[in-house]
Amino acid sequence: MVDITDIPVEGYERVRRAVDPKSGLHAIISVHNTVLGPALGGMRLWPYASEQEALTDVLRLSSGMTYKAACAGLNLGGGKSVIIGDPSMKSEAFFEAMGDFVESFDGQYITAEDVNTKVEDMDIINRRTKHVTGLAGKSGNPSPKTAWGVFLGLKATLEDVYGSDSVAGKTIAIEGAGSVGKVYAELIAKEGGKIIVADIKQEAAEDLAKVTGGQVVHPDAIRSVECDVYAPCALGGSINDETLPLLNCRAICGAANNQLMDVRHGELLRDRGIRYAPDYVVNAAGLINVYDEMQPGGYKEDRAMANMELIRENMRKIFAIADEEGIPTATAADRFAERRIEAVRSGVEQA
Ligand code: NAD
Repeated sequence: MVDITDIPVEGYERVRRAVDPKSGLHAIISVHNTVLGPALGGMRLWPYASEQEALTDVLRLSSGMTYKAACAGLNLGGGKSVIIGDPSMKSEAFFEAMGDFVESFDGQYITAEDVNTKVEDMDIINRRTKHVTGLAGKSGNPSPKTAWGVFLGLKATLEDVYGSDSVAGKTIAIEGAGSVGKVYAELIAKEGGKIIVADIKQEAAEDLAKVTGGQVVHPDAIRSVECDVYAPCALGGSINDETLPLLNCRAICGAANNQLMDVRHGELLRDRGIRYAPDYVVNAAGLINVYDEMQPGGYKEDRAMANMELIRENMRKIFAIADEEGIPTATAADRFAERRIEAVRSGVEQA
C-alpha cells in the first residue's frame, strides 16, 4: 500500500509525498496552479541527495510548468513529479505504485515522461491511472518537437538582435548534445548555421560535430566561446555568477529548463546587452505536442506543429514588453504569463 501524505506549501495548490517500502518508491508530486486547467508536467527520476533537495526541485519545476503552459496559450496548469532514486531501481511494481500516486490527484495532475522516464514506463503507469500522456502510439517522443520550438525561438531571437531571422552564417554554441540539443543543432546546420558543441559525453559531442560539420570544445569552454548565440541544452543553472562574465555571445536561446540560476541573472544579462530567450517560452513545443493528445479527435501532428508557431510570435511580444517596460526578458515572460492567468482567474478571458 502506498503511503501518501500532504506537504503544505504556501503558493501551491497541492504537494504530496508517496512512500511505498514494497516497491522502493519515494516520490513527490507538486501541483502549483490549475487556474487554466489540469496541471500537466513530466515525471523525473533522479538520485536526489535528500527529500528536501527533491522538494525544492519539484516546486521550482511545477511553477515553471504553470508559466510555460500559460505562455504557450494552453489551457493547462503547472505540475511535476519527482521520484527519488537511481534509474536502476525501475520495476513494474515501482511504476504501478507511482500510477496509484498520480491517480490520488483525481485528474488535478496529469503526468508524462521526463528525465530518466520513458514511454514504456508511462504505459505501466497507465495500468493504474488514465491521467497520463505521451503513451506509445500517441504524440510520441517530445524531444524533436521541443527542438523545433527552440529553433523557432532562435529565429525570433536572431530577428530581434540582427534584424533578420536567417541562421545562415551564425555561430551557435550548443551545450549538451542530447535528445533536444542534437536535433536543434541539426536544424541549425541544415540552414547554414555553424555549430560549436560540448557534452560531458565526449563521443556525443564528436558525433554531433561530425553530422553538422561543427567543432567540439571542452564542456568548461562552451560558455566562453565566441558565438552569436549560446544554447544551453544540458542542465539548469548554467547562467550564474561564475559563468555570466565569461559569456561571449549576443544572445541565449536553448532548451534547458531554469537556465538562470537566479532572477537577478536576467537583469545582469540585460546589463551586458545579451538578449535572453526565456527558457520556458522557447522549450514549450514538447508540451504543445503532448497537449494535442487531449484535443478533440486525439493527437494530430499537423495541428500540433501549427500551434508551435506561437512560440515565435510570443517571443516577439515578450521582447517588446521587455523594451517597453524596461525589464529583463525573463521578467517580461513572467508578466506575459501572469497576465493571462489573471485574466482567466478574474473572468476577463476564458481559458
Ligand atoms: P538529454 O539527457 O537527452 O541531454 C542532455 C545532454 O547534456 C546529455 O548528452 C548530457 O551528457 C549533457 N550534459 C550534461 N551536463 C553537461 C554539461 N555540464 N556540459 C555539457 N553537456 C552536459 O536531455 P534532453 O531531453 O535533450 O533535454 C535537455 C534539456 O532540455 C534539459 O534541461 C531538459 O529539462 C530540457 N527540456 C527538454 C525537453 C524535451 O522534450 N526533451 C522539453 C523541455 C525542456
